[in-house]
Amino acid sequence: RHGNADEPVKTICPYCGVGCGIRVREGEERGEMNFMPWGDAPVNEGSVCIKGGAATQVVDHEDRLTEPLIKENGAFREATWDEALSRVVDEMEAIREQHGPDGMGFFGSSKTFNEENYLLQKLARRYGTNQIDNCTRMCHASTVWALRTSLGMGAMTNSMADLEESADVLWIQGANPGEQHPIANSQYFRQAVLEGATVIQVDPHANKTTESFDIEGTDRHMHLQLEPGTDIPLLNVVLKTILERHEAEPDAGWIDESFVEERTKGFDHLKETLEGFDKEAAAEECGVPLADIELAAEKYAMANDAAIFTGMGMSQHTCGVDNVQNEINLALITGNLGKPGAGVNPLRGQNNVQGTCDVGAMPNVLPGYQLVDDDEARESVEEVWGFEIPSEPGLTNVEISHAIGDTVHGLYVMGENPIMSEPDGNQTEQRFREELGFLVVQDIFMTETAELADVVLPATTWAERGGTVTNTDRRVQRMRGVHKVHENTRHDLEILSEVGTRLFGEGFEFDGPEDVFEELREVCPIMHGMTYDALGEEGIHWPCYEEGDEGDSYLYADDFETDDGLGRIEGVVHQEPKETPDEEYPLVLTTARLEEHYNTGTMSRRSPTLSRQEPENFVDVHPNDAERYGIEDGDTVRLRSRRGEITVRADVTEDIKEGVVWTTPHFAAASANRLTNDVLDERAKIPEYKAAAAEIDVG
Ligand code: SF4
Repeated sequence: RHGNADEPVKTICPYCGVGCGIRVREGEERGEMNFMPWGDAPVNEGSVCIKGGAATQVVDHEDRLTEPLIKENGAFREATWDEALSRVVDEMEAIREQHGPDGMGFFGSSKTFNEENYLLQKLARRYGTNQIDNCTRMCHASTVWALRTSLGMGAMTNSMADLEESADVLWIQGANPGEQHPIANSQYFRQAVLEGATVIQVDPHANKTTESFDIEGTDRHMHLQLEPGTDIPLLNVVLKTILERHEAEPDAGWIDESFVEERTKGFDHLKETLEGFDKEAAAEECGVPLADIELAAEKYAMANDAAIFTGMGMSQHTCGVDNVQNEINLALITGNLGKPGAGVNPLRGQNNVQGTCDVGAMPNVLPGYQLVDDDEARESVEEVWGFEIPSEPGLTNVEISHAIGDTVHGLYVMGENPIMSEPDGNQTEQRFREELGFLVVQDIFMTETAELADVVLPATTWAERGGTVTNTDRRVQRMRGVHKVHENTRHDLEILSEVGTRLFGEGFEFDGPEDVFEELREVCPIMHGMTYDALGEEGIHWPCYEEGDEGDSYLYADDFETDDGLGRIEGVVHQEPKETPDEEYPLVLTTARLEEHYNTGTMSRRSPTLSRQEPENFVDVHPNDAERYGIEDGDTVRLRSRRGEITVRADVTEDIKEGVVWTTPHFAAASANRLTNDVLDERAKIPEYKAAAAEIDVG
């Protein structure tokens, strides 16, 4: 027990990556949990969005899993923990004996804490495989790849607080913070605009972010409403404009020459790539007037400090790595890195999406982004763990799913819902149903994935246990739990600890989350200086190498963390989405999330407040398309792609471009992921959620 009814605990909202502080208090009834604001919380100073305010509604929800379940003859029956864990361990041992350790895959989750993801990836590696991945693969794997290889660290280069204080321009591309990071948008970005900053929003959709910057008395917002999948040509127009203007006025400050010379490499490659580049044709392809893009380029280049924010509209493409690389190119040539109010900053979607990667729940890296195929790094971790770690990177999330029935025969899923989160959901479900030998799911509700499991292990929620999470700007913060609502549920750490101990005898016994954190920081250089005491209520931004370090609110003040200390510029060229409209499927389908819901909706769909606001899925259709198809606002339509179909309400709106339709992945009855394409970015292996070909049937 960490708290009691008289004393609310200070913890972190379980939803998006902003990491707002909230308080939770036990209600009159045992099990009832109530939300309370945390007035001086470090990130949000008491404010929360609709999701944060409703967060406690699911803690004591009647749908909670309360007992371990084992499936027999196609139906679940209640089991003891001993029975359920014995079955898990027996099945895992049998799979390893028959197929080798790569016969198992492990899915961590950004809904769970650093300590839990750390222990799961250690379990996978002790089992003998690097086949451990997490949901970041689906949202920002390409961003992390580009940032890590070109600058050194796969994370926001700056923090929200230093941006608010000094950024003159906020360039927001493929992100909708007004909807998906509401407190970052209202408390930091909108505040920056009120104090004089300009916002350049690049997005195919007019959305809550667009509305939020429509501030009376200010005229500092541009919206470049481009066609989906044309981010590279748009940024190439920006880069070419800056190169041309710099050539015409070398002293006007279009390019930061000394920064380029001293701190970067690859500038010539960018210039060569853009030689002969036709700006007019590219602007036409983007569907944005050339003059508007040129004006945006001027505002960005002429700012003292300009910050780029990037989201899944950039990352969820087969050219996701190149999309983000082009943002890095823009920041590097203008010297907008290594100082406050600048940088390239991915807005992460889940409350621990940064930390899940930081602690090594990925197939190619160990804690602290140490590569598994780097002998020296691997050996240093092996020394602490006391066993050998495989040196070959494992398969990624969607690759593991694709390998089910071929090389993968068992899956350990902690807090994830791949049946709804993976692209091409019908195929994913078929593989899980028909070809997966053994599935164990550890979760708080009977998710769409848990329904297909052989064993379901009931876990406690975020409000019932302690640990740490890392928000979108690298701030590691402590979560504090009240107490268990259901006696026979267990904390994720306890479950993993027991599975590990039963499988391997030693190395998995811990005395609570702080004990795990102590081992984590021993093998994770970027968190080495952190202790629970030092984290306190404020948290610490990594990197924090030594005890007493305060952490860095912005990165790369001196050198980049690349082998030669230089930031890498690399020109990129336009690549079309892998599936484009044709006669049979003439529309471009794109996807996004809503403020009221959270990813696959496991929690948010069960919140009365949130589901009352947005009870069902819908598709946005442009009025000209609606007229062509004979659709009235509110009609029920069938939206289909080559992979499946969903039945949804049509919302006719000018917010979307003609020829484009837009829907969400939150609702089990009609998820966008029944339609999305499972083709991957070659390097980062992120699926192309943001562009597919679709058709609408009416009646
Ligand atoms: Fe929670 Fe994000 Fe809303 Fe903050 S902005 S209350 S972290 S969902």
